[in-house]
Amino acid sequence: MTRPEEEMGQIGLARVGRRRVLCPACNAAGSTAAFTYAEWSGFAATTTDSRRDFDMAMRVNPDLAFDAILRCRACGTVFTDRAPSEEALGSFYHQYYGNPGYLAKLDQKLALEKRRLFLLKFLTRGRRFLDVGCNIGCAVEAARWNGFAATGLELDDAAVAVAREHFPRNEFVAGTLDSLSPGLTFDLVYCSEVIEHVPDVGHFVRQLAAAVAPGGVLLLTTPDSGHRQVRNDVMRWDTLRPPEHLTLFTRAGMRAALAPHFRRVVTLPNAKPGVQALAFKGKAE
Ligand SMILES: [Zn+2]
Repeated sequence: MTRPEEEMGQIGLARVGRRRVLCPACNAAGSTAAFTYAEWSGFAATTTDSRRDFDMAMRVNPDLAFDAILRCRACGTVFTDRAPSEEALGSFYHQYYGNPGYLAKLDQKLALEKRRLFLLKFLTRGRRFLDVGCNIGCAVEAARWNGFAATGLELDDAAVAVAREHFPRNEFVAGTLDSLSPGLTFDLVYCSEVIEHVPDVGHFVRQLAAAVAPGGVLLLTTPDSGHRQVRNDVMRWDTLRPPEHLTLFTRAGMRAALAPHFRRVVTLPNAKPGVQALAFKGKAE
């Protein structure tokens, strides 16, 4: 058992996470520091939510920590200058998300996803659906309800077990995009509030794009750090929660990240600070 003062003593250990120099969204060089880790840690200590707990986790395990939060001068994306290893993130999530309230507001979530999928189905003729990071599978069930053959992909084994129990007529795979058979593609790929957690954005976007069939479409949602409600004071925005969230995109940043892999990318207007991007694959790609 480590005493708290011993854990605190580790704050000076060298960072071991992978350096991120280029913008993870648009690849531009020359990002500027929005604030340092010390400034973040001082602020997080004044919060009464997970930001304070997560800062403690970064003090205990330097692999989770960063030296500065950077902002891209080209696209405005805000990101940690270090990305933790998959192993460090795995144990972090295991520690902080051991017993989530999976079934809270299940009916509301399902109803919302059914409405969303009802609209999305007009964007593509094909009826193969994939949700990347499906949690307990509400969007997957909503896609099936709207006529899709639906698959959900989820890293959290416990969430997959709940999904299989509640929505047995769909396919659920425990794992990441690496777990899918190579060459397997879908007409509608859905990825909601996942990319901000991912340590290697470039790899993730390439895999997402590869899962979209010719003529298919990707809907991706993530927080929007460029939104007028939050951009002037991102430190106090409660969505800035390292190391849970590592990259907070802007609409321009998300378009830049997706553009090399799709024929057309659009981001939708949103009164709330959230990016909603639609990316279309050409028929011949
Ligand atoms: Zn950028």
